[in-house]
Amino acid sequence: MRESSPSPTQQSVKPLVRIENVRKSFGKNEVLKDITLDVNAGEVTCLLGPSGSGKSTLLRCINHLESIDGGRIYVDEDLIGYRQQGEKIYEMHPKEIARQRRNIGMVFQKFNLFPHKTAIENITEAPTGVKGLPKADALRRAMELLDRVGLADWAGHYPAQLSGGQQQRVAIARALAMDPKLMLFDEPTSALDPELVGDVLDVMRSLASQGMTMIVVTHEIGFARGAGDQVVFMDGGVVVEQGDPEQVISAPRHERTKAFIESVL
Ligand code: ADP
Ligand code: MG
Repeated sequence: MRESSPSPTQQSVKPLVRIENVRKSFGKNEVLKDITLDVNAGEVTCLLGPSGSGKSTLLRCINHLESIDGGRIYVDEDLIGYRQQGEKIYEMHPKEIARQRRNIGMVFQKFNLFPHKTAIENITEAPTGVKGLPKADALRRAMELLDRVGLADWAGHYPAQLSGGQQQRVAIARALAMDPKLMLFDEPTSALDPELVGDVLDVMRSLASQGMTMIVVTHEIGFARGAGDQVVFMDGGVVVEQGDPEQVISAPRHERTKAFIESVL
């Protein structure tokens, strides 16, 4: 557990993300089966689980890249994708969905940078285009963010001129440029050569220590143990177990969790 995180018994800890009885199917394939999960503000939740267990789908539902078939997701007490009036629930207007999505940063396995834009242009794109921030302000902020991810000297480089680890750090800076309340990471180091993983994890650790609320899908057990406040193990579209990282990783209660942890250690 991070030293900076308040103990769960303290009143100040409140969920930033509430996932209640969420269901999602693709055709007949029920991918999320009644998922209920809280993610506390300022904490790091690591999502572990075998391939196909529904981890990416869950992240995509939080960020409205997928719609849900049942249940509710709240981010900062804002119901995602729907508008509640009394007992009635309406689908949201795309503009409102876009507003909600701006509060959530997402980092993918494949960095998805714009190849024809430099590192700094990748970062200023959304703040100037979507938020209407003046160019000079956006540039200043982008330089701060590049510095924060250790790439101040690489602002003018194109993605193809950067290593995978550098590209991923630009992608993190790009997500941070929108000042998100929540950061979602979907296997951010899985596409990297092993020697480049550490720098990306260091940036994520520093973000965590600054109090960012993060949900991280990862097979990096060391990161989950060291930086996670909560570990959630999913399999077959359900949360099999969740809790303190040390407990879930070192003393899993369920056979499936144990087998998975052994397979990735
Ligand atoms: P994980 O990230 O844990 O590997 P995913 O959430 O990517 O799992 O996938 C869970 C299941 O949902 C898999 O069976 C996958 O094939 C299926 N799936 C994911 N996205 C789609 C989609 N867009 N259309 C159809 N099936 C999908
Ligand atoms: Mg996935």
